Amino acid sequence: MGTSVLRRRLFSSRLPASLALCLLAACASVPPPSVPEDPAAAAVRLQERREWAFAKDGVRFDNRLTAARLTGVTRTGAYTYVVDAAPETRPVNPSPWYGFRVAAERPATVRIAFRYPGFQHRYHPKLGSGDGRWRDASPEEFEPERDDAPATLRIEVGPQPLLVFAQPPLEPGDFEDWTDTIARGLPIERSVFGRSVQGRPLRMFEFGGSDDAPLLVVIGRQHPPENTGSQALFGFVETLAADTPRARAFRERVRTLVVPLVNPDGIVEGHWRGNLRGRDLNRDWGPFTEPETRALMQSLLARSEGTGRRVVFALDFHSTFHDVLYTVTEDPARQPGGALARWIAALRTLSPGLEEKPSPAVRPVFKNWAFCRFGAPAVTYEVGDTTPAAELDALSRHAAQALMDLLLQELPVGPVPACTISAGNDD
Ligand SMILES: [Zn+2]
Repeated sequence: MGTSVLRRRLFSSRLPASLALCLLAACASVPPPSVPEDPAAAAVRLQERREWAFAKDGVRFDNRLTAARLTGVTRTGAYTYVVDAAPETRPVNPSPWYGFRVAAERPATVRIAFRYPGFQHRYHPKLGSGDGRWRDASPEEFEPERDDAPATLRIEVGPQPLLVFAQPPLEPGDFEDWTDTIARGLPIERSVFGRSVQGRPLRMFEFGGSDDAPLLVVIGRQHPPENTGSQALFGFVETLAADTPRARAFRERVRTLVVPLVNPDGIVEGHWRGNLRGRDLNRDWGPFTEPETRALMQSLLARSEGTGRRVVFALDFHSTFHDVLYTVTEDPARQPGGALARWIAALRTLSPGLEEKPSPAVRPVFKNWAFCRFGAPAVTYEVGDTTPAAELDALSRHAAQALMDLLLQELPVGPVPACTISAGNDD
């Protein structure tokens, strides 16, 4: 599949169907918030799904949408509002996700200021009309945050609701639809490896290789807002699954295991960072207190032990402020001439400024756990929040081609290293 398909997916989410459900039955598709007993998670703040109606202006806001986040609306003048999108817990990574719907009885220009006490506005607003298409708010519509003024949106609103989101939201069903597109091209083995805190199925799929083939592990979306990371994962996996001579040869030799959505509850709830209990899943690869990470860890161990199959490369897709690859300092494959060094060099033929940031395998993040458990190169593949869709797609497809070339030449697995991953969250 080409870039056009990826773009179409990005700009044609399933919101219309969700909207219809929400309008008919107050979001019957979204389970009501419920947090299982966990004293340590007492500080988690689940948003109330509701409407804020302002009769004087005939304007109303609501958050009754999957992936929405809106925790307060204050009218500060005629057609002028402040919206709050508070994090699910504190302290929290500065990823202020927001998502809401706004409509007016009569066409009007509405001013909306974004308020996040203690945090700065991060995501440029994406506007959707509910027909599946999204666009960036224009420079005339959006004024970024300044020292003396909050980020402010000034938009035309009418009876047709306007969606305002930090990124075009991807829902759990979008990941399943995407998996369906992969399954139409080749046989894949789908499975549910666990349940989220709120009981949603945690899904993976595998393709290529025999039962004891080397294993490439690709996971994503531990963190709810990180849309561009998902887009890169899609292009990457589509390239491995493509009907090309190189991909077919690769699939003869290597089995690929894909978990596109590790944190479905966080996405549905519109969390900034955590799962339903507000826990950062990419700080749980050591404590394993959360069902999502625990189930994935057990599943990966079950696939590698007793079968002779070894993980030979692991990738975890994320988004941050710019494109960067986080690697493990101790990984011998990083040394000049090593497999990981060659893969990164191949990526830099397309993206010369691509940064690599190694760090010691200490913090309980997925890449450290995978490296320490399997002795294989493990990379956190970070995509910039604003990296253009065509650019991130081209690089992720190129990265997949380069990785196939690499793994067709050699399997870069060393002895399992002696690591001490900290059980605590030390950052
Ligand atoms: Zn992340």
